[in-house]
Amino acid sequence: MEKKKKLTTASGRPYFENEDSMTAGPRGPVLLQDYYLHEKLAHFNRERIPERVVHAKGTGAFGKFTVTNDITRFTKAKLFSKVGDTCKVLVRFSTVGGEKGSADTERDPRGFAVKFYTEDGNWDLVGNNTPVFFIKDAKKFPDFIHTQKRDPKTNLKSPTMMWDYWSLNPESLHQVMILFSDRGTPDGYRKMNGYGSHTYSMINVKNERIWVKFHFKTLQGNKTLTGAEAEVLKGKDPDYAQRDLVEAIAKGDFPKWALKIQVMTDEQAKKFKLNPFDITKVWPHGEYPLIDVGIMELNEIPANYFASVEQAAFAPANIVDGISFSPDKMLQGRILAYPDAHRYRLGANYEQIPVNRPISEVHHHQRDGMMNVDGNKEDSPNYYPNSFDDIEADESYREPPLKLDSDMAYAYDRNENDDFYTQPGALFRKVMTDQERTNTIYNIVGAMSGITGEKRAEIIQRQLSHFYKADPDLAFKVAEGLQVTLKQ
Ligand code: NDP
Repeated sequence: MEKKKKLTTASGRPYFENEDSMTAGPRGPVLLQDYYLHEKLAHFNRERIPERVVHAKGTGAFGKFTVTNDITRFTKAKLFSKVGDTCKVLVRFSTVGGEKGSADTERDPRGFAVKFYTEDGNWDLVGNNTPVFFIKDAKKFPDFIHTQKRDPKTNLKSPTMMWDYWSLNPESLHQVMILFSDRGTPDGYRKMNGYGSHTYSMINVKNERIWVKFHFKTLQGNKTLTGAEAEVLKGKDPDYAQRDLVEAIAKGDFPKWALKIQVMTDEQAKKFKLNPFDITKVWPHGEYPLIDVGIMELNEIPANYFASVEQAAFAPANIVDGISFSPDKMLQGRILAYPDAHRYRLGANYEQIPVNRPISEVHHHQRDGMMNVDGNKEDSPNYYPNSFDDIEADESYREPPLKLDSDMAYAYDRNENDDFYTQPGALFRKVMTDQERTNTIYNIVGAMSGITGEKRAEIIQRQLSHFYKADPDLAFKVAEGLQVTLKQ
């Protein structure tokens, strides 16, 4: 017979009683010295860690990325150095606005965060299932997210807050159009695209920089739910997308995505009709075609959700040699905000948690802090420079300088006559089918019908004027659905 494992306390003492507390006599009271009881209750009280302030509800899987096309002319990143090379990945999918227990089929963008465990450290591509975002400056992010969360008084979600904010921030229109199309309710996580969304850069062996956008195209085919189907599933199976992923992987039906890039030289960027670093805009495929890179397959559900998904910490700050940032203002804000969120949620040593730990060696002079569990670099010096360790800041990793030609200021493109309307209009007229247009209008009318209170008419007219500038037919149909007259 297999030898049984002994029950122990957390300190390792074999223990004999897991159900009955120690009492004085058969009727009690319970004795203070029953430490095992304290340990059980006290640890239970501390099981929850702060949930993510956004992207709280999610699921994850491990897998592998395989290079299928040579892109070494653009990047010296080791993970792309040879066709056929593979790299372990962790992907976390999520909704954005809901709490940890919220329904998977809410109308919301979906988070699409990928951690590549490369030999040069972790590269985190932390994007969404949409190529654009609601706002282009991180300074707006807390305000925007407040409108997606709960009303401070009623503690209810508030369509009034949402549309008030969107109508006052027309740069959101492109993302709003995607959100209210059926792509705002994808059929699980396997049948949707992922996008790095920001503009990043790649640097090649000649130290030349090129601007890049990342696209993960689902090989399961894009499949969406109608608003009505999504509503039903919210009640019937709130964990619909998580279940779909877990069950597909359990039966060996491993989902795959093709990673592709768009690239833009700095000369092209200077001449581009739009700001190429503005996350509310896409680079049209016709001008900047997709280039194949590789295939990502997910094939393993982590053995423990809390250990590997709840504690997973993705950060756009985590780049590797050959891949870097861009002046995208949202990206710049996220470089700060994500690691800051992890330090709050998981502690200063969150990169030491096994799921976050790189496969490459880690050498630096940061020490101590809560939950330091990697030996704290033992007796090696905790300052730099020093005469004792042989850690060098290797010059070969230095990035080429980026020449800037502007003054320092705020609000560059607020007054710049920005075009918030052409791309959402193109999406509505040229990309959507008749059925998708009908569904989008239906979804918008349904959501805007929830606007209440004394500012209702004002908010509706302000949003209709944005729809009108994108596509007059869209505005008239939404107005008709809301039974209001569009004031031009
Ligand atoms: P293309 O016709 O070359 O590409 C259209 C893209 O739109 C495809 O990638 C398609 O994804 C995607 N798509 C289809 N329906 C929706 C939807 N409801 N919401 C979001 N994306 C959708 O067009 P252009 O590159 O010239 O761009 C036209 C418009 O398409 C843009 O203004 C933008 O709104 C949208 N778009 C553009 C992307 C880009 O990076 N250029 C990326 C995604 C959307 P798939 O191929 O997987 O079906």
